[in-house]
Amino acid sequence: MLLLVDLDGVVYRGPVPIAGMPELLTERVAAGDRVVYVTNNSRWHRSQYQATLRSMGAPVGEGMLVSSARATALALASRPRPPRRTLVLGGPGLVQELRDEGLRTVAPTPAGLGQEPDAVVVGVDFSLTYRRLSTTAAAVRSGALFVATNRDPVFPLPDQLAAGAGSIVAAVATAGGREPDEVIGKPEPGLFREAARSMGMPVEDAVVIGDGLGTDIAAAHRVGARSVLMLTGVTTQAQVDAAPPAARPTWIADGPTALARILEDAAAAS
Ligand SMILES: [Mg+2]
Repeated sequence: MLLLVDLDGVVYRGPVPIAGMPELLTERVAAGDRVVYVTNNSRWHRSQYQATLRSMGAPVGEGMLVSSARATALALASRPRPPRRTLVLGGPGLVQELRDEGLRTVAPTPAGLGQEPDAVVVGVDFSLTYRRLSTTAAAVRSGALFVATNRDPVFPLPDQLAAGAGSIVAAVATAGGREPDEVIGKPEPGLFREAARSMGMPVEDAVVIGDGLGTDIAAAHRVGARSVLMLTGVTTQAQVDAAPPAARPTWIADGPTALARILEDAAAAS
């Protein structure tokens, strides 16, 4: 089976691994499952996630991590006509993911804008300034393909909620006068599609394992995949019960032990 595994709230919470998850994923890989970690976070290059996961004892390997940054790069590079130059409002991890796929990037500066980028990619940008925002919006107004890594309004830091990529995308869309042409991250289907395609497996055969009802589970429904909602993150059982039946996951697990049973049953049935 192909397992599309969300990170925060599923494999770890902040810097702390969720007890039993690294071991369970190691067992599933040994049993023949393919695991791809999928995260909306566009900040880091995949090598940085791999280092974190390895330190927690989770299985890692080539192609096993697809962030919204990586999925954006794969989606752009596989277009019939990939962009010639892409202006990036985001961090070095996002820039590197795009370059790894052979895409030429320019900075959101007057010099970058002068190179007439035909695509704009917006992710979370810790160096956001008024000038970077205004320059990116100018490229959007000039008609460049406008792609957002994701639209998460906020993301959790240990002591507060920080502004997410979606907040920056909203600013660019307002100043640029139009909405993104494409949004890659959950709940949109692009992240899961690219993750499955990178493994050469049909996305509708995947099992999505996530803690977000409106993100992971919603995206699973969009691509026709089965899903397990983990109660180890942001969603409570009461929230699942209150959701309309069509928005609920295939299975619910309160931790790795319950997840192990679900995956054994799913593997036996397929
Ligand atoms: Mg999560």
